[in-house]
Amino acid sequence: MTAVNLGLPHVPSVSSPGSAPRPDNPALIDTFGRVATDLRVSLTDKCNLRCTYCMPAEGLDWMPGREILSDEEMLRLLRISVERLGVTDIRLTGGEPMLRPGLEGLIGEVAALRPRPRLSMTTNGIGLAKRAAGLAAAGLDRINVSLDTVDAEIFQRITRRDRLSHVLAGLAAAADAGLAPVKVNAVLLRGINESEAVPLLRFCLEHDYHLRFIEQMPLDAQHGWNRGEMVTAAEILDLLRAEFTLSPSPDARGGAPAERWLVDGGPGDVGVIASVTRPFCSACERTRLTADGAIRSCLFSNDETDLRALVRAGARDEEVADAWRATMWGKLAGHEINEAGFAQPIRPMSAIGG
Ligand code: SAM
Ligand code: SF4
Repeated sequence: MTAVNLGLPHVPSVSSPGSAPRPDNPALIDTFGRVATDLRVSLTDKCNLRCTYCMPAEGLDWMPGREILSDEEMLRLLRISVERLGVTDIRLTGGEPMLRPGLEGLIGEVAALRPRPRLSMTTNGIGLAKRAAGLAAAGLDRINVSLDTVDAEIFQRITRRDRLSHVLAGLAAAADAGLAPVKVNAVLLRGINESEAVPLLRFCLEHDYHLRFIEQMPLDAQHGWNRGEMVTAAEILDLLRAEFTLSPSPDARGGAPAERWLVDGGPGDVGVIASVTRPFCSACERTRLTADGAIRSCLFSNDETDLRALVRAGARDEEVADAWRATMWGKLAGHEINEAGFAQPIRPMSAIGG
């Protein structure tokens, strides 16, 4: 199959999604002029940690196996996204993506797609020490490892597991395997790990890992998020400025969610993803595929399109592609967390893909 020339669409802005007729354009465009080229794919909703801001101690009712896309179904959708919809970046996530059986094989197949997408993965790092070299050899380009603290006790308190040393070994192995730049994602929780902001940044600068703090979002399964408790981007920056000089990074931000700062004049830097207090929805380039085959135009959306049903009913590639385009055409202007009446999405982060 030949790749479609997607060009760059010019789409006029309209006030509400879906009210304008959808132009005949192969790309994932929406009514606000955005083009989604970055696909987040959840490979599983299962996880081997229990981060308090993500899920309860007992875990969740995992999706039944028959509901999860098979490798063949998943690969078909990824191929359609690359060949027909202009997706250029694929990020594997979950749940914990390394719990997906046959992950390395799947990565190899995704890396063989043409045009070859940039391929990255967000992981908690458990088991990465042993697998990093194999993942890189299979075709993974880059990795984001989630780490909220470099203190073993705090790690156990947040993740409810005693695994800090595994994650640190995983990070080192990822760097050795060339999965660079190795990025670290951290969420700060009030009264629990705010004190870790500075030690985390020191640790990351020392090892040349690129640290990004993420504001805690209302996406936990137990609906325990509380705006007053959230450590804001402004507070995170204040915590860091007590020890470091931060200056705005000269690098263009583009559609990247992180605002970046040079630390002590550089070259090391730190990012802050202020999803709640400084939303970046107007520059969003994302589309999302859940492990059970639903397309979502936004983390916070409650509208999904069930592509698995189409695939299992024998739909042609172009029919699947068009259902995907229609979902993205309906993407809202923003996530509305800061609006009165905001309702948390039914699916938790671990079942959407973070
Ligand atoms: N299990 C993998 C991991 O932890 O990296 C991938 C999935 S996890 C849902 C992806 C990212 O979402 C992690 O960096 C995690 O810290 C973040 N995350 C989870 N729940 C969050 C929340 N309520 N607010 C902000 N970030 C969250
Ligand atoms: Fe698992 Fe990632 Fe959620 Fe932590 S944030 S419980 S590692 S899915």
